[in-house]
Parts: sequence; structure tokens; C-alpha cells
Amino acid sequence: MSKRIAIFGSTGSIGTQALEVIAANPDKFSAEILTAHTNEDLLIAQALKFNPNIVVIVDEKKYQKVKDALANTHVKVFAGETSLDEVAGMDCYDLMLAGIVGYAGLKPTLRALDNGKPIALANKETLVVAGDIVMQKALEKKVPVIPVDSEHSAIFQCLIGEGRNKIEKIILTASGGPFLGKKPNFLVNVKRDHALQHPNWSMGAKISIDSATLMNKGLEMIEARWLFNLQPEQIQVVVHPQSIIHSMVQFEDGSIKAQMGLPDMKLPIQYALAFPQRIPNQFPRFDFKKISTLTFEEPDTKTFRNLSLAIDALYKGGNTPCVLNAANEIAVFAFLRNRIGFLDITEVIERTLNKVQYIANPTLEEYFDTDGEARNYAASLIQM
Ligand code: NDP
Ligand code: MG
Repeated sequence: MSKRIAIFGSTGSIGTQALEVIAANPDKFSAEILTAHTNEDLLIAQALKFNPNIVVIVDEKKYQKVKDALANTHVKVFAGETSLDEVAGMDCYDLMLAGIVGYAGLKPTLRALDNGKPIALANKETLVVAGDIVMQKALEKKVPVIPVDSEHSAIFQCLIGEGRNKIEKIILTASGGPFLGKKPNFLVNVKRDHALQHPNWSMGAKISIDSATLMNKGLEMIEARWLFNLQPEQIQVVVHPQSIIHSMVQFEDGSIKAQMGLPDMKLPIQYALAFPQRIPNQFPRFDFKKISTLTFEEPDTKTFRNLSLAIDALYKGGNTPCVLNAANEIAVFAFLRNRIGFLDITEVIERTLNKVQYIANPTLEEYFDTDGEARNYAASLIQM
């Protein structure tokens, strides 16, 4: 029987690539639920092609258009933010692909976990905001959280078969983004379109900016802390501009395992959908004769201060990563609208981190409140 996939964020970079994987494996997977925020045209086209049971359009103004376009099908149409939670609570799917970007992905993922559904997790912000609560819930419900983020998929794959063998440390690789080697005098003038051009990966706008500022790697350190139950000291970052080694695990005996391949998100997406199986595909293969040099260097945290802010948040814990994430979302959104400069992103995050009160062991409600407070404060800085 095929696995019924609920793709939350089906119109995004992760979502559309997941649909390519499903289209290539119709005997193994079906698209049961598709959700979009505002892109009704793509959602309609996807629904007509994949014939899901349910679609959700978060933007309620678009509901009638989606409903009319799908009038001659059996697809059920839901609208509004609360529909995401409602649909995540349904029984009709086997696995949720959490591919919504940002904080908006947290609640539906929690709902799916409550519902006992395995998660293929692309939405790293979920773990940055409330990783302790999310992973505790997964443990209680005995449901797997399978990473889609390429670095975490690499680590997950390196850990298969290792049982209780202890991890000494993990080494997250970072491409360095489009501004590797640049200094503040260059970065101060960087504009949106340049920052959106990642050398190795084609991704959504928010994560592309996070990659350019190195915040993405900071978020991934926090994501890894929760996914693999590590202490902050066990998480190291190394810049590896070729993006061939997707990440590594070093065990207690000093042995290091790496997972490698060409940078193509369809591979970790397919792995997460098919887990624990590996299935064949036609993706291009890495050829050692074509890329003869793999290089490694220290990240420049003095220039890319977002990474050092994230590392501080990782060590501080409590609600600090939640503040970091909220301020970052607001600042990146403002940068994408040309409201602030590239280096102002760091400024907004730092000032917000200094403002919001620290809570050592937040409840879920306190995480929600922290997110709201941090967002409001960060937004007030931008309006000044
Ligand atoms: P995109 O911006 O391309 O897509 C985001 C998806 O989420 C779209 O379907 C979008 O709908 C939907 N969405 C956006 N805002 C909301 C909201 N407020 N409520 C509900 N749905 C919303 O992002 P990516 O696919 O690049 O990234 C998704 C997640 O995966 C992120 O957390 C990212 O960090 C992570 N990730 C992505 C990688 C990549 O290669 N892209 C790699 C590793 C991790 P609409 O289209 O209608 O706006
Ligand atoms: Mg990644």
C-alpha cells in the first residue's frame, strides 16, 4: 500500500520537490493533503495533478477561487490558519512533511505529533522555537521525527546501525553562502537579489537569506541539539564550500562517518519519505574525478555575527532561541522588502535578544508569548 503524505507547504521549494519525488514513485507515495499560504494558482494546479483528499489555502480571501477551480473534483477545500491544525489532527494520512517556512509551521506539527503521525521535518524553526517540547512529545507518542534538512539527514543516516554508541561530536558543514570571504564593508551594501543567489542550493527566500547571513547554520545547530539530544559543546560547524559532504558524526573512538552526494534536496526528501527504505532514483551522481578537491575552513563569526548570536542562544537555552528566531523572521522579512540593510538584520536580532525577558524552562504558552513579544519589539525597531 502506498504511503499517504500530507505536505504542509506544498507550494514552496521543499513542497514542490516533494511532489516531484511522489510523482516519480506513484506506487510508493500519494499526496493526501496539500497546503499553501497565498499561492492559490499553484495549489490548484497541484490539486488537479495529484488529486489529494484535502487542500488548505491559509489566505481565506482565496477560498472561493480554489473551491470553484476544484468544483468538478472530490478534493475537499479548507481555508484559514486554524484549518492547518484541524487537518493535521485528521486520520487520513500516514506521514506529515513539515515544509511550511518559519514559526507558522510549529502548531500544525505539534498537532500531528499529538495525533501520533510521523514527521518528515524540513521546518527547522519548529525545533529552534520549542525543540524540548516538540521532541518530548515525539518521545511520548513514540513517533519518529525524520530530518529533511540535508545536514541533519546526513547525521541521521550516519547514526543508522550505531545503536547506543556514543557521539563525541557532530560536524555540521556549511557552504558559506554567497558572501563567503566577504567583509562588513562589502556586506553593508548588499541588496536582496544578490543575497538570494545561493551558490549551491535553490531554496525559498527566507532560508536563502539565512544562508547568506549564516543564521541558517546557527538555526541548524539548535535543530541538531534537539534532534540528536546533544550538548552544545558537541556541535561544531565547518565551512565546506563544495557542499558534497552534507555533515559528519565523530564517535567516541575518534572515527568519523560522513554522508556525501551532490547538493540536491530531493535526496533527503526522498530518504525521509521512504525511511527506513532506500529507493532507486535517476538523480545525478557525484563523480570524484570531476570534483577533485574538497576544502574546509573555520566560519567567520566576526563578520557573520548572526552565527555567533545563534551560538550564544544555543548555550543560553530557555526561550532565547525562540527570541532569536522571531527577531530573525521579522528582520529577514524587512530585508526582503528593502526596508533594512543586510547588516541591520543582526542589529535587530541583537537588540531584541537584549530586550525580551529570559525564561529558563518555558511552557508552550510561554514560547508563544515570547514569540509574540519578540516579533512586536523587532518590528518596532524597524519602524523607527
Ligand atoms: P518556501 O518559502 O519556498 O515555501 C514555504 C511554504 O510554506 C509555501 O508552501 C508557503 O505557501 C507556505 N507558507 C509560508 N508562510 C506560511 C504561513 N504563515 N502559514 C502557512 N503556510 C505558509 O520555503 P522552503 O520550502 O525553502 O522552506 C520550507 C522549510 O524548509 C523552512 O523551514 C526551511 O528552513 C526548511 N528547509 C528548506 C530547504 C530548501 O532547500 N528549500 C533546505 C532545508 C530546510 P505559499 O507558497 O502560498 O506562500
Ligand atoms: Mg541545511
